[in-house]
Amino acid sequence: MKIHVLPSGPIQTIGYLLTESKTGEAVLVDAPGDILAKIRPVLAKEGCVLKELWLTHGHWDHTQEAAKVKRETGALVRAHRADRGLIETPERMEEFMGARLGLEPVIVDAWVEQGERLSALGREFEVRHVPGHCPGNVLFFEPRAKAALVGDALFNRGVGRWDLPGGDFEVLAASIREQIYSLPDDTVVFPGHGPRTTVGEEKTDNPYVSLNSSFRAG
Ligand SMILES: [Zn+2]
Ligand SMILES: [Zn+2]
Repeated sequence: MKIHVLPSGPIQTIGYLLTESKTGEAVLVDAPGDILAKIRPVLAKEGCVLKELWLTHGHWDHTQEAAKVKRETGALVRAHRADRGLIETPERMEEFMGARLGLEPVIVDAWVEQGERLSALGREFEVRHVPGHCPGNVLFFEPRAKAALVGDALFNRGVGRWDLPGGDFEVLAASIREQIYSLPDDTVVFPGHGPRTTVGEEKTDNPYVSLNSSFRAG
């Protein structure tokens, strides 16, 4: 399996395209603006067909092109039900962004649950619910590749904002400790923005939520 890192859209949100040439299949994790133009040449080069689109959460910068990706590729869309309102009525996001983004509602085909196993690309991915940045943030963990795609819960030396509607610092800190820091230390963390990191590094060096303490700023 290859993990293609594709920053895209107005705030360089990262869409991760997972390809497996052995099965000729691909999964896209998040759909920022203009992602379709970025994944098409990669799919062609790898000889893969996009099968599924997994949304880490319902914020506009991760869903902006989801409806278009679904329409043009037929990919099956998965997300967590707690972000259903954001995904299906995205104009709600425009209210608190203070901008008209022309967001299209996305029809989710399958709601994922804490602890669910998803079979894709000849592998098994574990779903973990990591709320706090928003109610429906999930991560997708693949133990053979030791890779966790975490959305905006945890960043390299940072954490997701907790000041947007539905955000809560204490909930976020508990999610990070219980659902991310319990993964193997050498798990590579692929966040929705910025450089990758590892579970072990963040446990000791994250300035907001370390293994034993948290520091709420602002
Ligand atoms: Zn977000
Ligand atoms: Zn984001």
